[in-house]
Amino acid sequence: MPLDRRTLMRGSAALAAAALAPRAAFAQAAAGPFTLAPLPYAANALEPHIDAKTMEIHHDRHHQAYVNNLNAAVKDHGQVAAMPLQDILAKLGEVPESVRTAIRNNGGGHANHTMFWQVMGPGGAGSPGSAPAGALAEAITRDLGGLDKLKTDFNGAGTRVFGSGWVFVTVTRDGKLAIESKPNQDTPLMEGKRVLFGNDVWEHAYYLTYQNRRPDYLAAWWNVVSWPKVGERYAAATAGTLTI
Ligand code: MN
Repeated sequence: MPLDRRTLMRGSAALAAAALAPRAAFAQAAAGPFTLAPLPYAANALEPHIDAKTMEIHHDRHHQAYVNNLNAAVKDHGQVAAMPLQDILAKLGEVPESVRTAIRNNGGGHANHTMFWQVMGPGGAGSPGSAPAGALAEAITRDLGGLDKLKTDFNGAGTRVFGSGWVFVTVTRDGKLAIESKPNQDTPLMEGKRVLFGNDVWEHAYYLTYQNRRPDYLAAWWNVVSWPKVGERYAAATAGTLTI
């Protein structure tokens, strides 16, 4: 059967649509100034301490939603949209009031989760780099009483967060460390501080494996902390180049 003109046109249209589809999808995902980076490791890389399903839902849905909602909030505010995220969060009081809460929640969520994926990694206790080294180790001893005390105090602060929130270790430009917790998606970046690392104590971070046992999640989480990555962030903080 000869290929008639109409079939040919339909075929061409379908081919053109197929060729355009990935670009259209990409354009949509990259619509705002803020984008979601892929996880820097496989979703199952942190098992058994954090299960793959939790990682997928947490990154692909929760974090993506913060990015989408942040982009929507800055859509009609070009001056805000053009600023680095850490500067927006440090100057929330100057952001238009109509979008301030949305930017606080979703900008905080974007910054917190971007940091969170970075400071974890496969490896675990006993593997190379499974303990702090160098200047970071010295600062932990000097400011936080050593790694064991840091874990005890950090887990205690994380357990005491009522409802949803985060527990952080902040770092100053001269390398001084402190433990701080925040509600919701607030972050020390909102006070112009820098975050060395932090743990998410929202239920969505642990519920599938740990249900209501937040202290068990907090204890297990140390097995997936990437001390080499935290060491890089410490070096960046003291060099003045750490952002979020
Ligand atoms: Mn989260």
